[in-house]
Amino acid sequence: MQTDYYRGKKIVITAGPTYEKIDPVRYIGNYSSGKMGYALAEELAMAGAEVHLVSGPVHIKAEHPGIQLYQVESAIEMYDACHAIFPDMDMAILAAAVADYRPEQMEQSKIKKTADALTIHLVKNPDILSSLGHAKKPGQLVVGFALETDNELQHAADKLERKKADAIVLNSLNEKGAGFRHDTNKVSILFQKGLIFEFQLKVKRLVAQDIISCISENLA
Ligand code: C5P
Repeated sequence: MQTDYYRGKKIVITAGPTYEKIDPVRYIGNYSSGKMGYALAEELAMAGAEVHLVSGPVHIKAEHPGIQLYQVESAIEMYDACHAIFPDMDMAILAAAVADYRPEQMEQSKIKKTADALTIHLVKNPDILSSLGHAKKPGQLVVGFALETDNELQHAADKLERKKADAIVLNSLNEKGAGFRHDTNKVSILFQKGLIFEFQLKVKRLVAQDIISCISENLA
């Protein structure tokens, strides 16, 4: 790794799931543990970066005292927090599993089970990675993740282009021990111009080290 590359760099990281409220006691969520984003936050803080961690609801803690934590719940809250922080950042790493849709409106009281069927109308959430990718200024870098089940490389390459990211970290749901809820992960990292690096299955702290080395070596 270019050891000093991250020293003093300001980096916003998103991690974990988002919860989209249906009523005061129910939400739409997902199984993201936040482990990958938190591992990146720890490694970058250890490398001397000023880390701003925007986290959805998770059961893990940020240990390094240099990590500034912003706890959010919904995709809209995560979007607002990221956009407030990003103008002052050198880099954004978007590792959160953001809900693609949210209930159009949250019911103010608990929904009663009177009807035999219930329809909840969902509307699309804003895409934080894409909006930061399109808003970035020269010198700012944006890195996203992709979790794919089929045509993985093609979908990840499309995402790199469409969301104006500088790199996409691809983790496959087809790999045993990789992705959601696992302590291990197996990733490939795609850059512009078709450059791809593949890594072995490892614990997420070591995957985080590979990701940050690969980014500094290819985007510095
Ligand atoms: O399009 P897809 O959800 O597969 O893209 C995944 C990448 O985009 C991840 O980096 C994720 O954090 C980011 N994303 C986001 N906001 C969304 C949806 C995804 O930042 N609303």
